[in-house]
Amino acid sequence: MKYDAIVIGAGVAGLAAARKLQENGKKVAVLEARERIGGRVETDQATFSRPFDVGAHWFHQEEPGQNPLANWARQHGVEAQPDRTRYDSAGFVEQQHRQADLWTKTKGDRPLSELPSVQGEWAAEARNLLGPLSVGVELNQASSKDFRTMIDEKSDLVAPGGMAQVVDKLSEGLDVRLSTPVSRVDWSNKGCWVTAGGQKLEADRVVVTLPVGVLQKDVVQFQPTLPAWKNKAIHSLQMGHLKKVAFEFPPGQLNAPVDTGLQVQGSPMFHLVRPEGSDMSITLVGGQTALEWEKLGTEAAQQKVLGELRSVYGPGLQPRAASVSHWESDPLSGGSYSAAKPGHQSARLELAKPVGGRLFFAGEACEEEWATTAAGAFLSGQKAAQDILNV
Ligand SMILES: Cc1cc2nc3c(=O)[nH]c(=O)nc-3n(C[C@H](O)[C@H](O)[C@H](O)COP(=O)(O)OP(=O)(O)OC[C@H]3O[C@@H](n4cnc5c(N)ncnc54)[C@H](O)[C@@H]3O)c2cc1C
Repeated sequence: MKYDAIVIGAGVAGLAAARKLQENGKKVAVLEARERIGGRVETDQATFSRPFDVGAHWFHQEEPGQNPLANWARQHGVEAQPDRTRYDSAGFVEQQHRQADLWTKTKGDRPLSELPSVQGEWAAEARNLLGPLSVGVELNQASSKDFRTMIDEKSDLVAPGGMAQVVDKLSEGLDVRLSTPVSRVDWSNKGCWVTAGGQKLEADRVVVTLPVGVLQKDVVQFQPTLPAWKNKAIHSLQMGHLKKVAFEFPPGQLNAPVDTGLQVQGSPMFHLVRPEGSDMSITLVGGQTALEWEKLGTEAAQQKVLGELRSVYGPGLQPRAASVSHWESDPLSGGSYSAAKPGHQSARLELAKPVGGRLFFAGEACEEEWATTAAGAFLSGQKAAQDILNV
């Protein structure tokens, strides 16, 4: 049987592409290496008394109603509500705004570390939040053009039931084959053949939604090989890193107002304390710190976070459940989300361009304004599908 399109990857981008193609009468199959759909959208329903998003958590947006994935999700019955996190220090928030303003006013595409920086109390912490914790890389590896092009996170939403609800809805009615890692794509002006496990599937077109971290490792062989301009785009981007360390405490132990955003001076950690009224803490570390903690191991990461939380909320804190994410060493993502290397923001649109009218590319890395986000993955998937429909 010949497909109109084979989609590689059942993350948000792959599912959005497949859905749009199928809605327009195309015969589509989605091949996914993992035993689950969602990719970097994953909700853990087992560890805590409430759903915990191991990957994407927020629908980021600058203005209410702006996030296309949140709008789609709401239309399909997923509850999404405004994020109510309140930072415990006004000075920290103030410095973030001042630093972000300085960085967005500059022209060109240089490392963020070479741009003007704010001085004084909370300045270093503000840069850590805008740099490693948001774009996932250190300031000397972060593109200033990438930073100023991406949407600001001023009016975020959260889905209390977990982000996996969104991918569950996106996948409804689609032919998704789990535990089916693609190893090879043969393509020519006659068509495409996709090798996955023992099978070889034929299709007119292929939508590649592999994360940058996977594309860079050449896990999937393209025959003929991808053109030089496409490889250049792949290697002009990099994977950023964000690690989450989450705890649940017995009720009453975490003596803090609900939805506290806690930053301790001099610390690389940012804590969400009692998000949405829970008895949880979710701690984020980004960039180099995330990579270092991954090497140290789960237990060491947990002890670092507990040490800092106990210094604020008392030595008696004793979690009853814990979870640590490991995207840094996940071979199917290679990190959390893409970051352009300084001077290379334009690689995003190059990555998005089709090859030979046969290979189409989608994924968060292919977007500019919505780069790094699940909404970007959604838009890029829809665009790749539209490109195929236009052929
Ligand atoms: C810790 C963390 C926090 C985040 N927080 C947010 C947030 O708050 N808000 C937000 O909008 N975004 C956030 N993101 C980013 C968001 O999760 C991603 O931008 C989005 O999910 C990417 O979707 P995608 O479809 O492009 O890629 P993926 O979800 O990575 O999909 C690609 C798929 O390809 C599969 N695959 C890999 N290799 C193969 C192969 N050989 N054969 C077949 N399949 C293969 C993978 O398993 C995966 O399922 C976060 C990410 C992480 C990791």
